[in-house]
Amino acid sequence: MPRPLHAIIHLDAMQHNLARARACAPTAKAWAVVKANAYGHGLERGMRGFVQADGLALIETENALRLRELGWVKPILLLEGIFDTADVPLLAEHNINSTVHCIEQVKMLEYTQLYRPIDVHLKMNTGMNRLGFRPDEYAAAYNRLRAIPGIRNITLMTHFANADELENPRLSIAEQVRRFREGAAGLEGQRSLSNSGGVLHQAALAKELHNDWVRPGVMLYGGTPGGGVTAREYGLLPTMTLKSEIIGIQQLQKGDTVGYGSRFEAPGPMAVGVVACGYADGYPRHAEHGTPVLVDGVKTRLVGRVSMDMMTVDLSPVVNARVGSKVTLWGDGLPIDEVANGAGTIGYELMCALAPRVRVHEGRVGTD
Ligand SMILES: *Cc1c(COP(=O)(O)O)cnc(C)c1O
Repeated sequence: MPRPLHAIIHLDAMQHNLARARACAPTAKAWAVVKANAYGHGLERGMRGFVQADGLALIETENALRLRELGWVKPILLLEGIFDTADVPLLAEHNINSTVHCIEQVKMLEYTQLYRPIDVHLKMNTGMNRLGFRPDEYAAAYNRLRAIPGIRNITLMTHFANADELENPRLSIAEQVRRFREGAAGLEGQRSLSNSGGVLHQAALAKELHNDWVRPGVMLYGGTPGGGVTAREYGLLPTMTLKSEIIGIQQLQKGDTVGYGSRFEAPGPMAVGVVACGYADGYPRHAEHGTPVLVDGVKTRLVGRVSMDMMTVDLSPVVNARVGSKVTLWGDGLPIDEVANGAGTIGYELMCALAPRVRVHEGRVGTD
């Protein structure tokens, strides 16, 4: 028997969530973001789950090529662009869209003869201060790209720092949109502004946020970008369920402690269950005492410190808990955002951190 820990990927839910993104931004074309191994779901599964997307966006050229090998014929976008001049011919050969975010990348494109036209996304830094040209440098970069023979479409792009909030006082979506508008004034090309937060944003700016391309990531995997609205309220379904079983039970007396650091002390007689799942599987070690867990469908809580291969849960609310009881760590029945909250992180990190040693298979929501 294999160790009972396994992750189920719900391709039907991935399709559903993409349809939700489209419903939020009905006039836009959608890049489904499949970076980080499709947020831990597997690149190939990402491709199949988002077969309806207009394009797939990721980081590494190798993975862009892998998508081509797997048969993806629609557009591919490199979100950080190229890292070396040697990558330029690959863009032309495999019809890969590249982000251009700095002058070094413009130079790489200038130096290399393009034997087939390519499309690029020119990125503006509207306040995130990660990648991109400042609004006042943007038109110059645009014109320099325009002058390169072989560059076909230039899509104008930016990225939001706080798309999950209606109004961040340090940097609002509206302020980033204002800077984008200013920097892109008079430049021809399609626009691409929104990640999941922008897609889910239905306020006054929606029309601008939802054209011409959107780039949803986490929402496609049933997570929220933050902001207090739950995945269920957004109509999103979980796409990854992490399941295991109880492999041992300890009956504690008042004052007994559990696990490394003896961080949990039983307030009275109680049973704790040992779950085959630990931080080497991707379950966060920083998860706090009280982080929710389902045992036989009953919501209970983590107690004590998560160790490498195991964690312990309170079995008090679970009648008839036994070795072999089914455990859900996150996913179907237990929103990943709730678990992330208990671990002081975000759903994104939990999905992406799913460890290679965890067995993964596909199944519909509600199956083992
Ligand atoms: C990761 C990423 C996205 C997707 O972000 P989510 O918050 O997961 O929707 C969109 N655009 C860019 C440039 C990204 O790097």
